[in-house]
Amino acid sequence: MRVFVFLLTFGLFLLAAVPAQASSALPPGHQPSKYVRWAYPSQVNYGPIETGGGDTGAGPSAGAFLTLPFMGPHYITSIFDHCGPNYNVSGRVCRYDGAVASKGVGGPDPTFDAGYALTPGGHDYLYYSGHDGYDYGLYYEQVAAAAPGRVMLADWLVPGCATCLSGKTIEIDHGNGLLTFYGHLSQILVSKGQYVARGQVIGISGMTGTATGPHLHFGVYHMNGGGPVDPYGWSGRGADPWSRDVGNLWLSGSPRYAPVQMPSVSVTAAPQVDDPNNIDVSWSSPGNMSFTIYVITQHGTERTWIGHRGNGTATFAGKPGENVWFWATASSDLGWVDGAGSAVISLPHVSHGAATA
Ligand SMILES: [Zn+2]
Repeated sequence: MRVFVFLLTFGLFLLAAVPAQASSALPPGHQPSKYVRWAYPSQVNYGPIETGGGDTGAGPSAGAFLTLPFMGPHYITSIFDHCGPNYNVSGRVCRYDGAVASKGVGGPDPTFDAGYALTPGGHDYLYYSGHDGYDYGLYYEQVAAAAPGRVMLADWLVPGCATCLSGKTIEIDHGNGLLTFYGHLSQILVSKGQYVARGQVIGISGMTGTATGPHLHFGVYHMNGGGPVDPYGWSGRGADPWSRDVGNLWLSGSPRYAPVQMPSVSVTAAPQVDDPNNIDVSWSSPGNMSFTIYVITQHGTERTWIGHRGNGTATFAGKPGENVWFWATASSDLGWVDGAGSAVISLPHVSHGAATA
């Protein structure tokens, strides 16, 4: 029993360790940290979390071309300030729907003096005055291209400076006079000049440059230094305080995930009835994925068993008395990865019958 518990613990350790190298490994010198805030106020009018299902209540502009730069629900930690997206702290924050939080009403936030509340009492803060894009709470996670285009920057924003501005940054030229901007990355997975598809993985989020924690800064800008625009456009009363905006740029009018096939791996392993040292292993995912299958033994040895395969099955020849399990990773043509493990198979010490002679 004690041995079993040890094996299970070790198995869980490996389960945690294997996917880490794929998508969420911390860069050297970075420590895991908790979010500073215990809860986030609603930065957009449909809640604090961008779920890919929110409703801005406004229609798309004629030039709408964007989907979300990530997959899965994430907090929005700062919006675009229509009352001066220039990094000057003006004493107010103006949201795309006309909501205004200001110093005179409910702010500044005692823990962050560029944030102001919408109402007196200080609980519905908007962040932050002067911000020229959207911050999303991505913790060392895969970042997606928000539209097809050509990579025009894939480097430190300030050459050679790891602590300047948005650190490791990607800019994509979409050929419509606008670029999208992805800042504070820990890894860049594309290179300058490369064409990328909507929903393609382009990097891993992080906290390079000037950042208080891991997040993605996502921005949309006019080409050639023409300044930022709010992808949510303007649906408030009266004229948009930020005159360079070009309307609601989300396809369908509300932020949605890119319509790409994501891997979702399942793995089974079962000893054959007539020869329990032969283990039938099968692995699958929706879509057309490329799998790597690993074998892990009780000694913690992990080795690659099968690579570059689609959905499939194979028979593993085990040794009597051995405990083994299997880990499968799958990646899509756009770079999305998933992994899953099988149950632990304990092979009998004594062979049954003559079949294994
Ligand atoms: Zn930002």
